[in-house]
Amino acid sequence: MNATELKVIDDATSEAKLSEGCPACGGRLDVRLSAEGVFTVCVHCHLLGRAHLVKDEDAGLELRLVARARA
Ligand SMILES: [Zn+2]
Repeated sequence: MNATELKVIDDATSEAKLSEGCPACGGRLDVRLSAEGVFTVCVHCHLLGRAHLVKDEDAGLELRLVARARA
């Protein structure tokens, strides 16, 4: 999964929107990257989650969702 529209808010915080990124309903997933980690929320079913951002020299940034029960 690639974070396509990464928006930098400040030095420590960025946001991305992943269309069809929600693992539960396939809806749009909003992703916030900060010093505390990567948090995700689905705009459709409000599934909360966390993710790891992996930097890859070739593919760029890759977002790996952490499987978690529905909040
Ligand atoms: Zn969802």
